[in-house]
Amino acid sequence: MQIPAEPDPVTLVSAMGAPAPVNDYDIGRDRTQVVPAEGAASPMAFFIGEAPGKSEDEQGLPFVGAAGRFLNEMLGLIDLKRSDVYITNIVKYRPPNNRDPYPDEKAEFLPFLKKQLVVIKPKLIVTLGRHSMETLLPGLRISQVHGQPKRYNGQVYLPLFHPAAALYNGSMRQTLMEDFAQISRVLAKI
Ligand code: URA
Repeated sequence: MQIPAEPDPVTLVSAMGAPAPVNDYDIGRDRTQVVPAEGAASPMAFFIGEAPGKSEDEQGLPFVGAAGRFLNEMLGLIDLKRSDVYITNIVKYRPPNNRDPYPDEKAEFLPFLKKQLVVIKPKLIVTLGRHSMETLLPGLRISQVHGQPKRYNGQVYLPLFHPAAALYNGSMRQTLMEDFAQISRVLAKI
């Protein structure tokens, strides 16, 4: 990724700063670059996934592998494109061997995520999977709340299952597509 002198309005990355963990555990071993975000500076919705995988690490962009293709497909179902929304992850570097991010790693990157939210000011935050949901909406269970809009500290959220969880599971895929349709309904009301 080219690092601009002035902060980029979408990635918020500049020569002065890219998101970085304070304590770099083994998170550094299997990555080539930071994956901050992609999309619109004034988005219809702000999507937060878990962490970059191999394709994301290679391209420096979030959700560009198999889960990303499914995400694109679902955006198409509600007449949105990637360029209409903001896409990022809790953890901005690829964890080694695609393991789940550790709680410490999620905490390390939270200040950068909060900065993204302050600058972008999304009307709707869509959490993809339990890692982003648990970080922003503590105490909820995804199996109970998926597809249900939540207001928390004045912000509207829609927790969804992770697209990767639905890739090879037909009924999960159907549930996620139905939940995804809530995005248009929620946007029409806020
Ligand atoms: N899964 C995620 O959670 N994020 C990505 O960017 C890609 C796959």
